[in-house]
Amino acid sequence: MKYVLVTGGAGYIGSHACKALKSAGYVPVTYDNLVTGWQDAVKFGPFERGDLLDRARQDQVFAQYRPVAVVHFAALSQVGEAMAEPGRYWRNNVEGSLTLIEAAVAAGCLDFVFSSTCATYGEHDNVVLDEDTPQMPLNAYGASKRAIEDILRDFEAAYGLRSVIFRYFNVAGADPEGEVGEFHRPETHLVPLMLDAIDGKRDALTVFGTDYDTPDGTCIRDYVHVCDLVDAHVLGLKWLRDGKGSRVFNLGTGSGFSVREVIDQSRSVTNREVPFVIGPRRGGDCTKLVSGSVRAERELGWSPSRSTLGRMIADAWRWHQSGHYES
Ligand code: UDP
Repeated sequence: MKYVLVTGGAGYIGSHACKALKSAGYVPVTYDNLVTGWQDAVKFGPFERGDLLDRARQDQVFAQYRPVAVVHFAALSQVGEAMAEPGRYWRNNVEGSLTLIEAAVAAGCLDFVFSSTCATYGEHDNVVLDEDTPQMPLNAYGASKRAIEDILRDFEAAYGLRSVIFRYFNVAGADPEGEVGEFHRPETHLVPLMLDAIDGKRDALTVFGTDYDTPDGTCIRDYVHVCDLVDAHVLGLKWLRDGKGSRVFNLGTGSGFSVREVIDQSRSVTNREVPFVIGPRRGGDCTKLVSGSVRAERELGWSPSRSTLGRMIADAWRWHQSGHYES
């Protein structure tokens, strides 16, 4: 059995990754504390409940499964929360990841795929970001992810740990077969909040700021379909197992959409009105985060074929109407 340890496998992206890893012939072992994840989302391999800060539990799981690699999704990931409670982000994300990385090295598991973020880049005047753009995070979430990237580099120099680091742009959509999807409690992300507002599950969406320096005044993001995103992880794992060494890849599409454009597209996909109100800016938000995907496409052979805005919203809407987790 080729076990892969998937931290955060009970979360939105992690659960989709487990499905993709299983299809690629691996057995994904989900390691998750269920603080933001759902046991119902663990459908594609064994589940081991545990915390990122619990080294003894990690040692036990590494000894039990002897995984060929770690795919590390588990993290706190909300910009607003990170602004309000930075200590939690530094402790959980940085100290927790350090604990996991040390456990992996001690177990001799030296191939490591890591979920980083475009939030490590911070504000750059209207440029399309690439992997060499300087990292100047605006919030503790981005800063915590950048610190983990640094830890991985130091552990490569000291212990030969090889890492593929993916800097995600905005992830949306859901498994078209409806086995897993996006479900956060509380929800903070644009697409699921908007779908909730459309079908009356919550009040109107608040648009966070219309005074940004963009054509319609709202923030611009680069949205990637979750299934395309997790496909890159399977390719990243192959890259490592083929001995190609450590590498950083942005996962974006090169196309940016404003909050207003996402609202317009949702109206046309769902054929319903989108109730929204204009609110103030949310602290820590960048004006525009858009990436090229040249490196991932050229070197990994990644092709984000499902990442049109219409397809992402349609898949998210289908899941939204039928799927959710109980526990
Ligand atoms: N956004 C918004 N209202 C909301 C949630 C998000 O206007 O209730 C905006 C947010 O300011 C950002 C974009 O939607 O420009 C995407 O935000 P999200 O929280 O989904 O992802 P992030 O960009 O923070 O990773």
